[in-house]
Amino acid sequence: MADNNIRMPSCVVNGVGASPGIAIGRAFLLDRGKLKPRGEKISSDQVAFESERFLEAVTGARQELEEIKERTLKAGGSEVASQEHNYIFDVHLLMMKDKMLVDDTLTLIKEKKINAEWALSLNSEKIINFFKQMQDAYLRERQSDVAHVSERILRHLAGSDYDSIDKISHGVIIVAHDLSPADTLQLNPQKVSAFITDLGGRTSHTAIVARSLEIPAVVGTEYATEKINGGDRLVVDGIEGKIIVNPGREQLAAYQEKKKQYNSFQAQLILNRDLPAETTDGFRVALAGNIETPEETESIISHGASNIGLYRTEFLFLNRRTLPSEEEHFLTYKKVTESLPPGSTTTIRTFDLGADKIAESERFHEDSVNPALGLRGIRLCLNHQEIFITQLRGILKASHYGKLKIMLPMISGLKELRQALEIIAATKAELEREGVPFDAEIPVGIMIEVPSAAIISDQLAREADFFSIGTNDLIQYTLALDRSNEHVSYLYEPLHPAILRLLDQIIDNARKAEIPVSICGEMAGEPLYTLVLLGLGLDKLSMNAISIPHVKQIIRQSTFVEAQGMLEESLKMETAAEVEAYVAKEMNRRFPETFLMKI
Ligand code: PEP
Ligand code: MG
Repeated sequence: MADNNIRMPSCVVNGVGASPGIAIGRAFLLDRGKLKPRGEKISSDQVAFESERFLEAVTGARQELEEIKERTLKAGGSEVASQEHNYIFDVHLLMMKDKMLVDDTLTLIKEKKINAEWALSLNSEKIINFFKQMQDAYLRERQSDVAHVSERILRHLAGSDYDSIDKISHGVIIVAHDLSPADTLQLNPQKVSAFITDLGGRTSHTAIVARSLEIPAVVGTEYATEKINGGDRLVVDGIEGKIIVNPGREQLAAYQEKKKQYNSFQAQLILNRDLPAETTDGFRVALAGNIETPEETESIISHGASNIGLYRTEFLFLNRRTLPSEEEHFLTYKKVTESLPPGSTTTIRTFDLGADKIAESERFHEDSVNPALGLRGIRLCLNHQEIFITQLRGILKASHYGKLKIMLPMISGLKELRQALEIIAATKAELEREGVPFDAEIPVGIMIEVPSAAIISDQLAREADFFSIGTNDLIQYTLALDRSNEHVSYLYEPLHPAILRLLDQIIDNARKAEIPVSICGEMAGEPLYTLVLLGLGLDKLSMNAISIPHVKQIIRQSTFVEAQGMLEESLKMETAAEVEAYVAKEMNRRFPETFLMKI
């Protein structure tokens, strides 16, 4: 778009800096909101026109889907995933030919004298209800296909493209009301230089994936999609959580300079790659990486870590409908462990589906108003043991090829832990009977991310091989704030006295039981918090690749004694604001000009 076009005057949109970096580019508005079709009565002589309009929309939707199918298949991906996508496309294409969907909508237009949008909505609602009542889980799941197909046709009726992420062909900044973690995972960093969403918080999984892809992102802006037009020039400052819409010449020049400085700061940090994360007085902490997909191991290594402290395996299951088979689990974990340097450890977290990590499959869709408190994590695995056992068999088989650890998410008490341990023991016994080799000594640890687990961490420490603290959920549940909800993101306070006390208590209990303890929540990768966390005396911090060099630099330029002093001071304070102000002041004094993320 030419620069001399009339455009909105410059303005600033604020949000939450979710992934660091500066991007400058054009806005691409991605419509991920639900359409609200307008229903209208029509006269008898409009019936033919309305029917024609409907059939044209169906043809348009079919052609579009054929194109997407072709593009996706060409793009490749794992064979299983391709078969899966292919199958979904075929089901949708068939539905667009289906008598029940097409002919019955035409009949409704004619008989009820209503416009195509209204007729299609009524008809798809009827079909969805029909599938909902099916006994068979597979048939019940078809209701979401009907909803997707109908949505696509409605978009054609509205004359708007169903903006598809895979249609993006050149470098843009995506502006969307919301992106699911699965959407975000499909972004191609070569074509998307940043993204902005109205919804979301700093530890939402969408933000986590953005950091993994190393794409600057600002989330929780509330109104970005209303204030920004497609084609607007944008500056996205993922460090400060700010967007400059149509910046003036001077502002643009200032951000180009900031971008240059940030990039050269990052380039200089990477020089520490092969050095240990050790304080000047000799306290060493292991730095590990968090991954969502096997492809990310490369980035973890190139940023200077060799161990995976958290593999979020539920991402194996997003963007598809069928569960991974035992073989797929096995091959994936084997690939991850074999792509790391010899002797490295991979901590595989068993499925933590639920909350904002929603599987395509209707089988795991919860109609709950509080999905974060619903059937997620270990609860879901204990309720659907066949899924858990399939994954455990895959992990155990892969443990023969590299050092693996099993980590259980969302443990809330001893009963759950014991139940999971029993299943693991039974699975091992089964493999032994089958003569399949595996690591009989594979450590089984738990995430401490539910307040009840933190409170009884002394008891849990006696039965778990290790702890990894999931601060994202621990903060969410302790402070009672939805981590994906932008309206309460101001309450996300990792340095809240309640959180600091809990961390101190968990680590103390792990120490007493002599088990290793780490943090793998986003807090671990926040350079601003590095010294306070270091003061806790952790064994390991696990984080997204992009944070590793910065956190390492801070550790290497500090002493353990001063980190302990900072923690001690912080623990004496009464409010989160007090601790934050103190830590920010101290950190900015010690590390000026180092792009510490704004709190
Ligand atoms: C956490 O809760 O801190 C964590 C690491 O797990 P997730 O972000 O996947 O919930
Ligand atoms: Mg969690």
